[in-house]
Amino acid sequence: MMNVELKEKLLNRFIKYVKTYSQSDSVKADEGVMPSTPQQFEMARVLCEELKNLGLQDVQTTECCYTYGYLPANDGSEKIICLLAHIDTVDEVSGLNVNPQLSEEDGDVVIRTDGNTLLGADDKAGVAEIMTTLEYYVNHPEAKHCGIEALFSPDEETGHGMDKVPIELLKSKCAYTVDGGSLGELEVECFNAWKSEIEFTGVACHTGTARGVMVNAASMAASFLNSLPHGERPETTDGYQGFYAPMSIEGSIEKAKVVLFLRDFDLKEMENRREIVEMLARSTAASFGGMAKVTHTQQYLNMKEKMNEAPEVVANLVAAYKAAGVEPKFVPIRGGTDGSRLTEMGIPTPNIFTGGHNFHSRDEWASLNEMCKAAEILINLVS
Ligand SMILES: [Zn+2]
Repeated sequence: MMNVELKEKLLNRFIKYVKTYSQSDSVKADEGVMPSTPQQFEMARVLCEELKNLGLQDVQTTECCYTYGYLPANDGSEKIICLLAHIDTVDEVSGLNVNPQLSEEDGDVVIRTDGNTLLGADDKAGVAEIMTTLEYYVNHPEAKHCGIEALFSPDEETGHGMDKVPIELLKSKCAYTVDGGSLGELEVECFNAWKSEIEFTGVACHTGTARGVMVNAASMAASFLNSLPHGERPETTDGYQGFYAPMSIEGSIEKAKVVLFLRDFDLKEMENRREIVEMLARSTAASFGGMAKVTHTQQYLNMKEKMNEAPEVVANLVAAYKAAGVEPKFVPIRGGTDGSRLTEMGIPTPNIFTGGHNFHSRDEWASLNEMCKAAEILINLVS
């Protein structure tokens, strides 16, 4: 019975949300515009109105387009948890005029695009699952639950989703993002991320009289990049393997600059990577008779360390998966997430699957059965 009720509500909401245009703009976001596009306010308005209609408390959309609502506990507990999803869609593939196509397959309903746009299951499936969970508890006051805060954020896809998060509104000690992929995925760790900038300095002179005088910074930069381990690049690694990713190289004889992204799941290994970069940069420069200056900047941290300090946050989630008959599949995130930023801010935030597939593409699709399992897990989690 519960499933029939959930599926209908999930599907209706999902179709409504994917048809609401809310694409973000990474260029504007990098310039500091928040939200990066006005259409994200339209999606926020829809959600704000729905939260109000459900009778949640403190419902609001902030100036920077975060939508918040609070459903107090009815089980006498003090416990409050936050459920989080993002409202924007990526700007690599158009999210305008999404025209979802439904088909019945093997006892499931599959929702696809018409081939012209992305679907926006990332992350409107997550939004629909959180909304449906809230509505379920509003319609079933006899069912007990802890306090629930819902937070819908803009600009996740631009990497700026937590820049203006209204952390002062949050009463929760832990949160869960609903922004993963296929059935069973559970994400509690991501990369540690550093950026290394290496500046090579040489000596310029006329090429005709360069012998014994010229020191070429451009050649140093090229030689340095070639000295990095070939088997530790983004395109030659997966799973738990870290890498050195050359992001840019520019310069001339006198000055050349290389930007590298360093990624590793292990903090100690990350330290080694920084040392290796310094060593290779210095030895390359020395072999040319030039100079190298290395600057490292931390970008984000693996959330696992902080997650380990609050093991019940993941244990409760695993129990919720199992109660829904779903075996958790722990997968490492080879990037950062809104959850990793929140975890750094002191709110441990694992990530739950949505039932969406092939994100950021015209082949994106979602399974209603998997979406329903995600909603069941959220219902279990707060009960
Ligand atoms: Zn997402």
